[in-house]
Amino acid sequence: MSREAADWDAWMALYARGHENPPSVDQEPCPNCGARAVRLVFVEKSVTGDGPASLWCGSCLQGIYLSRTWIPDNAERLAPGATPEEVRAVIPNYTVIWPDAEDEAGNEGDEDIESHTF
Ligand SMILES: [Zn+2]
Repeated sequence: MSREAADWDAWMALYARGHENPPSVDQEPCPNCGARAVRLVFVEKSVTGDGPASLWCGSCLQGIYLSRTWIPDNAERLAPGATPEEVRAVIPNYTVIWPDAEDEAGNEGDEDIESHTF
């Protein structure tokens, strides 16, 4: 399971850099395939400026999803009230990498990658 954990760590490191400086993300190689097609988009849920974050590669369609974070000022975002159709027009149905679940009983690797549907 260490391979999945490394992938998660690589994506999270990329997310951390993207959260700090959102315009830098499209110059970063994808942790999975190396393509410079990574996008980071936030979905603003309220005027308080937080919401879920999607980080994915447009080439291999893998990435991570964080259910709630604060949104940097210059980040690409969907406005509060965006419909599911509007969200789907921007964020594809990519394969979400989850952190290694080795601490949770019963999960033996097949649970590490799931498809996330908005
Ligand atoms: Zn990729």
